[in-house]
Amino acid sequence: MDNLRERLAAVRERIARAAERAGRDPAGILLLAVTKLFPATVIHEAYAAGLRDFGENYVQEFERKAPEVASLAGARFHLIGHLQSNKSQKAAELFQGIQTVDSPRLARRLEATGRALEVMLEVKLSPEQAKSGAAPAELPELIAAVRECPHLRLLGLMTMPPWSDDPEASRGYFRQLRELAERHALAHLSMGMSHDLEAAIEEGATCVRVGTALFGRRKKQ
Ligand SMILES: *Cc1c(COP(=O)(O)O)cnc(C)c1O
Repeated sequence: MDNLRERLAAVRERIARAAERAGRDPAGILLLAVTKLFPATVIHEAYAAGLRDFGENYVQEFERKAPEVASLAGARFHLIGHLQSNKSQKAAELFQGIQTVDSPRLARRLEATGRALEVMLEVKLSPEQAKSGAAPAELPELIAAVRECPHLRLLGLMTMPPWSDDPEASRGYFRQLRELAERHALAHLSMGMSHDLEAAIEEGATCVRVGTALFGRRKKQ
């Protein structure tokens, strides 16, 4: 992965330009490096290149890699894939942040682990999106449930629009997520991936989740 540093510079440049267009400070946008389906050696290379926050989709996959990255001081790992409640104990041990909380039941399971966690609520804005995620109408109850959990620090909302080649197709979803966050007085928005991070930043993303643009294509799981 000789060109990781170049790819990282290019991604940071895209973030900076989009932030500038939107009149925002790029320092307020976290670049989450999505390392799912890549080996722990790639996390080491990304860390050496300066990245500190990593996104993983699968609890079991990260459980295998975690011992190999335990020595990376200051590295933080975030779960961005769907979490089944029966894996919440394991997830709470492995991750500092869970971006895919989508039910009061899951929130209570995470709380019961006694681990301090940063959480985001995954929102499903259209029927074409993944099966997981809370509907906007479910948010008031979900937010109230998370706020009753002293170990969970609620940061904001996360979404993943239906796949499209056209980044502009994502923009309406990003805008909807921002409006929901404003309505519920939540500060953070995790939205935008390799192909649509500009639109996400223009619409207010505070965390972009980038895999392919940093590490190249993934093998199918
Ligand atoms: C895989 C994944 C990403 C990264 O997608 P890229 O297109 O590779 O940047 C971001 N968010 C979630 C939830 C993902 O599953």
